[in-house]
Amino acid sequence: MQIGIIDRANGEREVSARARHLIGGALVPAAGGASFAVINPATGKELGRAALGTAADVDLAVQTAAAAQSGWAQRSSRERGRLVAEAGRRVLAEQEPLARLLAQETGKAIRTECRPEIATAADILAFYGGLGSELKGETLPYHPRMLSLTTREPLGVVGAILPWNVPLVLMMLKIAPALVAGNTVVVKSAEEAPFATLEAGRLMAEILPPGTLNIVSGYGPECGQPLVEHPRVAKITFTGSQPVGETIYAAAARKIIPVSLELGGKSPMIVLPDADLPRAVAGAVAGMRFTRQGQSCTAASRIYVHQSLYEPFLSALAAAVQSLRIGDPLDEATDVGTVVSPEQKRRIDDYVAIGRATPGARAIACGSTPAEDGLDPTLFAVPMIFAGLPEESPLMRDEIFGPVVCVTPWTDYETVIAAANDSDFGLAATVWTNDLAKALDATSRLDAGYVQVNQNLTIQPNLSYGGFGKSGLGKEASLEAMLEHFTRKKTIVFAMA
Ligand code: NAD
Repeated sequence: MQIGIIDRANGEREVSARARHLIGGALVPAAGGASFAVINPATGKELGRAALGTAADVDLAVQTAAAAQSGWAQRSSRERGRLVAEAGRRVLAEQEPLARLLAQETGKAIRTECRPEIATAADILAFYGGLGSELKGETLPYHPRMLSLTTREPLGVVGAILPWNVPLVLMMLKIAPALVAGNTVVVKSAEEAPFATLEAGRLMAEILPPGTLNIVSGYGPECGQPLVEHPRVAKITFTGSQPVGETIYAAAARKIIPVSLELGGKSPMIVLPDADLPRAVAGAVAGMRFTRQGQSCTAASRIYVHQSLYEPFLSALAAAVQSLRIGDPLDEATDVGTVVSPEQKRRIDDYVAIGRATPGARAIACGSTPAEDGLDPTLFAVPMIFAGLPEESPLMRDEIFGPVVCVTPWTDYETVIAAANDSDFGLAATVWTNDLAKALDATSRLDAGYVQVNQNLTIQPNLSYGGFGKSGLGKEASLEAMLEHFTRKKTIVFAMA
């Protein structure tokens, strides 16, 4: 019997109402048998029901992961890597149904967002799959009659807590290095988007030994918190909001376990007077992740444009954003789908209202909500450009996590660098110039963990990624991330006779 959450029995790839966790390689219902509704944001209708996880489910998943850990760690690191890479190929082979599922639960457009997300998720598994041999130690010169060396060991069971915005990429950034390093994993999926995570995990579980990868679904306090607090969880890796990150950090401190936190951002983009204007405008559209309704931690949401380019930049940006087609996430012609939930939409609307009411500010609405049959227009946010907001505006300071960008003119270089750095966050930043000396100066002075010149890429395998300040702790996406955050280093000394 096909037990996947994508139902092939009737020849159609529709989501069926299967509320399951993935534990020990099998899809199992919640201990209490309860489930919760997952809503398709584009239609407003129920997409399916997910298992409502509680402490009992988390305990079962963690005990299962703990039981599988030593056997997994006993395999050679290259063998673990080989299986992780093979799991990546399995996920990529199901790119289309996974992308459809992701589009339906998140509201993100399938062509611009969901298919690329599955490809990147598989790429991350391929990348880490090749790093098994890199779990090396060192020999330490100390004394001619002693052999001193270090080894890298797995931590044990890793708890991975996910947000909804790019759940598959973020899941793979956590589980791939954890697994290759010899840990086993319990993932807590995002309550808004649990299905593609579960289905990808189920596909991977066809290849990985039972119990190495487990996935539970549920709400933060009832399901995420017991995972953080579970005595057998040796490490938490979390991506999400800053307030929840603080709670998790405090809970981990009580257990004295390591945490990695990838939190929010308010990333500046600085356009210098010599910048290539069309390239900078295209970079702003890509960097603001308008095709994802701006729901990105690295969204270039504060754009500082030199006064000499300001008006042409604004008009070109408005035209470019206006040309994006907002519509049904499953339609190939759609560039931009919906935001994820009514809460998220309300939050965006509140910021837009503040921006519109700010004296002296200009608000440019770029597009309109679709009027297609079968779509609920409620969650289709219209992208907004605000010009001339004061630095202290909440739109300039808070992470909105929606399609709202602030564009501000500047004339003095020192002032714009100071403004860019005047944020509690420090996730990403970009500089747009063809002057190498200026680019070097700006990149060295910007307080952000991921700084790019003349481009605005998202997370890429092999480029160490992680924020400064309240944007978080630790790195992801690199060899360094695997070694530093998913292993512990042991020093061993042999005294010779
Ligand atoms: P969120 O913090 O509300 O939830 C994230 C996850 O934490 C969910 O799975 C949730 O159930 C869980 N959770 C909530 N309370 C918990 C608790 N007390 N204990 C344990 N787990 C708990 O975030 P979200 O709304 O899902 O995602 C949006 C946020 O994620 C934004 O702030 C965004 O910047 C951030 N984000 C950061 C990055 C990055 O790489 N830095 C990437 C994507 C998203």
